[in-house]
Amino acid sequence: MLLVVHGGAGNRRPTKNVLKKLSESLQEGYTILSKNGTALDAVVRSITILEDSGLFNAGSGGNLQLDGVRRLDASLMEGKDLKTGSVIGIEGIKNPIGLARIIMDLPNTMLTNTGARKIAEANNLEPLPEPDKESLARLAEIKKKGTETVDIYKECFSTVGAVALDTHGNLAAGSSTGGIQAMLPGRVGDSPIIGAGIYAENSMGAVACTGKGEYIIRLSLAKEICMNLRTGSPLFAARVSLRRLLKIGGNAGVIVMNKKGQFTILHTTRCMPSGYVNERGVVVK
Ligand code: ASP
Repeated sequence: MLLVVHGGAGNRRPTKNVLKKLSESLQEGYTILSKNGTALDAVVRSITILEDSGLFNAGSGGNLQLDGVRRLDASLMEGKDLKTGSVIGIEGIKNPIGLARIIMDLPNTMLTNTGARKIAEANNLEPLPEPDKESLARLAEIKKKGTETVDIYKECFSTVGAVALDTHGNLAAGSSTGGIQAMLPGRVGDSPIIGAGIYAENSMGAVACTGKGEYIIRLSLAKEICMNLRTGSPLFAARVSLRRLLKIGGNAGVIVMNKKGQFTILHTTRCMPSGYVNERGVVVK
């Protein structure tokens, strides 16, 4: 049993609150695993806690797009039957990862706001709270400077993601995000794209990415790393692909786990608040 989570790759050192929240999310997810629950449920639970915290760029803490609207993305994949669920640009819903989980069981597994919202409402998912003052001030600042001068990534990402291995030997991966620092209305990054932001297949491994979505998409980074796991360790698999990403101008952090429960947390940025939990306990850094 193993669960790994991240709170986004970037150049800013994580605060104590961020590390505490990651630790709580690991503990809650592991409780599910230790009761023989599924890797999928553990991933959903861990990400839900991070979405609810408002400390990350996901759920309650999601970034605003340039028109002042939060359009959130999330995705899930399980490695046994390769089932996926993903939601793109959802407005007004607090837990996109919960919605991705519901969508996973439908015949159509990737939905944008129009259909996804109806499903969220039919399932009584909680509404997204109003954005806090800091988010509004950040957006006002970006608009004042003019978007062409703003670094759209600002070298700070706080998307959240998780990968897990359960007692049944099944893997799962998930991700939830509010996008990047400055983005055109309707912009979609890697996080809800299966194969780019996440991937899980029992015979290979499970991966969740964070970073410059536009570049991660070009390499289908999560799937590429999973393919590398056929011939090497998680560290090897992540290293090979992150080198390729750097070459095209990308930056990212990844959590990678193989079917044997070996894992790595690797990033091209200075920091990446993250952690893992196994039978020896929780570690966050
Ligand atoms: N990858 C995310 C995106 O491009 C951003 C992040 O990782 O924080 O939407």
